[in-house]
Amino acid sequence: MSNLDILQGMTLEQIRSVIEVLQQSSDSYLFILDLNTDVYMVSERATKRFPFEDTVMEDSGKVLKKVVHPSDYAMLEADIDRCASGEQDTHALEYRWLDRKNRVVWINCRGTVVTGAEGHRLLVGRVSEMGKKAKADNITGLRREERFRLDAEALLRDRPESIRYIMRVGIDNFKEINEKEGGKAGDEVLRELAECILKAVDEKVDVYRLAADEFIIMDASKARVKRPRTVYNQIQKKVANTARKKEYSRFYTVSAGVMENDFVGRSAEEILRLTEFTLNEAKRNGRNQMAIYNQGTYDEYLKCLNMRKSLRKAVNQQFQGFEVYYQPIVSASDYHLVGAEALLRWHSEEYGNVPPAVFIPILEESGLIIPVGRHVLWEAAAVCKKWKTYIPGFHVNVNLSYIQLYRSDLLQDVDECIREVGIDSDSLVLELTESGYIETNGRIKEFFRELKEKKIDLALDDFGTGYSNMRYLKEIEAKTVKIDRSFVVQALQNEYDYSIISHIIDMVHSLGSSVCMEGIEGKEELNKMMHTNPDMIQGYYFGRPSPADRFEEQFLRTRDSL
Ligand code: C2E
Ligand code: MG
Ligand code: MG
Repeated sequence: MSNLDILQGMTLEQIRSVIEVLQQSSDSYLFILDLNTDVYMVSERATKRFPFEDTVMEDSGKVLKKVVHPSDYAMLEADIDRCASGEQDTHALEYRWLDRKNRVVWINCRGTVVTGAEGHRLLVGRVSEMGKKAKADNITGLRREERFRLDAEALLRDRPESIRYIMRVGIDNFKEINEKEGGKAGDEVLRELAECILKAVDEKVDVYRLAADEFIIMDASKARVKRPRTVYNQIQKKVANTARKKEYSRFYTVSAGVMENDFVGRSAEEILRLTEFTLNEAKRNGRNQMAIYNQGTYDEYLKCLNMRKSLRKAVNQQFQGFEVYYQPIVSASDYHLVGAEALLRWHSEEYGNVPPAVFIPILEESGLIIPVGRHVLWEAAAVCKKWKTYIPGFHVNVNLSYIQLYRSDLLQDVDECIREVGIDSDSLVLELTESGYIETNGRIKEFFRELKEKKIDLALDDFGTGYSNMRYLKEIEAKTVKIDRSFVVQALQNEYDYSIISHIIDMVHSLGSSVCMEGIEGKEELNKMMHTNPDMIQGYYFGRPSPADRFEEQFLRTRDSL
C-alpha cells in the first residue's frame, strides 16, 4: 500500500475525493478509518452489498460489528488497536464479512496508516472479496495453522469462556499411506477426512488444517453445541463409511486429542502444544480413539521429560548418581551363594532415589539405556572377577534391555567386556524378559546363536508376568528361567496357581533349563515354594540388593551369614 503514501498531509476531504476516483477503476471497496475520531468511511458500492447504513459513520466499532463475522471481530479489533496505538502502521488481514443477506463473504483487507493534514492518524485501505480463493490450504480448502493462531489468540484474549472445546484430529497411519501409495493418495485422504470433519460439525464451528495430517476444530459457536465425544464418533463413522464406499481400497483410522473448558489465561501456542500432547496420548493408548487433556497426565509427562534431562546429564558426567547394587542368588539345594544379580540404582539430586521401574523406561525410550547398560555390564564383570577369588564358580547376572539388543552392537560390547576385564564367558548371565521379544526380528535369532557359540548363558526374566511362552523358552535356549515374584505371591495364595507353577517348573526342567525363584521374602514362603523344586532362589530372605562393598562384606568375607 505504499502508493497510499501520496495521501500523507492531505485533508480528509482531499483524501476522500482521491479514493472516490480510485474506486471507479477497482473492484475493491475503499475505506478510511479516522483513528482519532473513530469515524469510518466506506465507498458507496460497499453499502449496497454489506449492511453499512451510510458512507460516513461514527463509532467504527458499532459499524464493523454489524458487518464483520462475530468470530472474527475480536481479531480485527485487536489489529486496529495496534494501528491506533502506533504499534503498527499497516493492516493486512483475511477474515469474514457478512453481506446484507447475512451470508459469509471472505475478504482480504489491506490498509496503511497515514497522517492527514489535521494531524489525525487515518487508516486508509481497500477490502477485496476473495471469492473462492480464500487463503486456505490448497488440498482441503481449509484455513491453516497461521489463521488458527490468530483466531484462537483473539478469542483467548477477549472471550476465552466462549470456547467450548478445541479438538486436534490426526490420521493414525498417514505416513504409511504416503509411503505405500504415494503423495497423491495422501492428499486424497486428507481431502476426504476434511469433508468428514466438516460434515460432523456445525457450520459455525471453525476447522483448520495443521501441518501434515492434522486438523484442528475450535467450537466457540453459540449454536446447539455437540459434545466433542459426539463429534469424534461422527468423524470416525464417516471415515469408516467412506472406506466402505471405496470398497476398502484404502483404510485408515483417526485419533483425537481434546481440550474442554480450560482456556482462560492460555495462549494459542499453549493450546497447540497441549492438544498435540493429548492427540499423541490417544495414539500411545492404541490409536483410533479420543483422549481428553488432563493436567495431571501432562505434568507427569513433563516430569518424565525433566527426568530424561537429568538422566542425560548423569550419563554425560561419568554416570554420576548411578550405582550398581547386587542381590545374592543361592543354590536351592544347600542355600549357598552361587551368584548375584546386578540391579541398577539412580540417586538423583533432584528426585532422590528413583525406582528402576520409573527410570529404566525413560532410559529405554531415550536410548540412554545403551551407554548405561554398557556401564552396568563392565562394572558387574569387574566385580565378578574380584568375587570369583572367594567363590570360583561365582556368576553375575546382568539385565539387558531389548533396546540394547536391537539398537546397539551388544554382542561386540559383551565380547570386549569379557576380554578386557578378563573373565570367563560362563561367569556372565544375561537376563532378558519375554515381553520385548519380536519373533520376526532376524537380529535376535542371530544374537542367541552367537551367544550360544560364545558360551554365554541367558536367563529368561520375569517369567509368569507375560505369556510364559514355552516355545520362546525353547527358541532362546535359556539356561535359566526366573520365576517372577508376582507369580510366587499368587501361588502362595491359592492352590490352583501353586499347581500351575509346579507344572511349569517341571516343564522347564524337561526342556533342560534350570529355575530361579525370585522374590522369596520369608521362611514360610521359602518352605512352601521349595516343594516346587526350584534350582536357585533369590529374595529378601537371603539378602536385599546392596552396594558392591557391602555385598562383599556381608556375603563373601563372612560367608556364614546367608
Ligand atoms: P528384575 O530383573 O526382575 O529384578 C528383580 C527385582 O525384584 C528387583 O527390583 C529386586 O530388588 C526385586 N526383589 C528381589 N527380591 C525381592 C523380594 O524378596 N521381594 C520383593 N518385593 N522384591 C524383590 P528392582 O531392583 O527394583 O528392579 C526392578 C527391575 O528393573 C528389574 O527387575 C529389571 O527388570 C530392571 N532393572 C534393574 N536394573 C537394571 C539394569 O541394569 N538394566 C536393565 N535393562 N534393567 C534393570
Ligand atoms: Mg532381572
Ligand atoms: Mg525378574
